[in-house]
Amino acid sequence: MKTTAYRRDDEGWILTTTLVVLAAAGLIAAGPTLCIAPVLILVMIGMAYFMNQSAHASLLRSAKQVTPQTNPPLYALVKDCQDRLDPGAVNVFVVPSRQLNAYTFGFSQPRAVVLYSSLLQVMDEDELKFIIGHEMGHVALGHTWWNTLLGGMAGVPVGMGAAVLLSFAFRWWNRACEYSSDRAGLLACGNPAKAITALVKLVAREADTPQEVAMVLQALDRQDDSLGNVLAETMASHPMLIKRIKAIKEYSRSAEFGNLLQQVRR
Ligand SMILES: [Zn+2]
Repeated sequence: MKTTAYRRDDEGWILTTTLVVLAAAGLIAAGPTLCIAPVLILVMIGMAYFMNQSAHASLLRSAKQVTPQTNPPLYALVKDCQDRLDPGAVNVFVVPSRQLNAYTFGFSQPRAVVLYSSLLQVMDEDELKFIIGHEMGHVALGHTWWNTLLGGMAGVPVGMGAAVLLSFAFRWWNRACEYSSDRAGLLACGNPAKAITALVKLVAREADTPQEVAMVLQALDRQDDSLGNVLAETMASHPMLIKRIKAIKEYSRSAEFGNLLQQVRR
């Protein structure tokens, strides 16, 4: 089995649909002068490249790269995730921040995984492996490349209607990717309970005891399924947390996960 076999089935067709919408939006934006479309694509690639370069430059000003010298224990976790998920060349950075967040970007190798420093205070080792593994999943599945490219679209002037359509389609794909990457995180930490507490801590960092985690989960359960939340989700880059938690539980019980986990542990 390929180590990226955890990719969700729906991710591929959602990306295809997104690209079709993208092409349609490009055509609408270009209107009758269709010859402008190749120019638009070139501008898009140029913007993406430029944004990637500037993101790297600003990262290097404030962040510390995780190496065996700068942070041996964290590097050991990174190495472990890398061995399991095989994302290719990845540099991991820690940026000082009170927020709890992580992200990835990069056009060419090595790609960058960025961890906000507060994560290191709030999460334990397994939870960190879930977070790091989730980001490496984005790299391994090619989301990072697509995101960096399509992120360049932000600077491309398209008509109002086209821009709205595009961002909806793009976020729809983003949400599909989150589910796949959660599976990567799960493979990296190997422990569904820790994957879930990591997600809970992202929204309620004080939740430490099982009782506190259960309380947060109860509160999250109540936000499920109301019309307002469903509408809000269509505009968000991430699925509702409670849906991600349910998906993690389901996947952790699947035979595919069992097989993959055995395989990556070797
Ligand atoms: Zn993600």
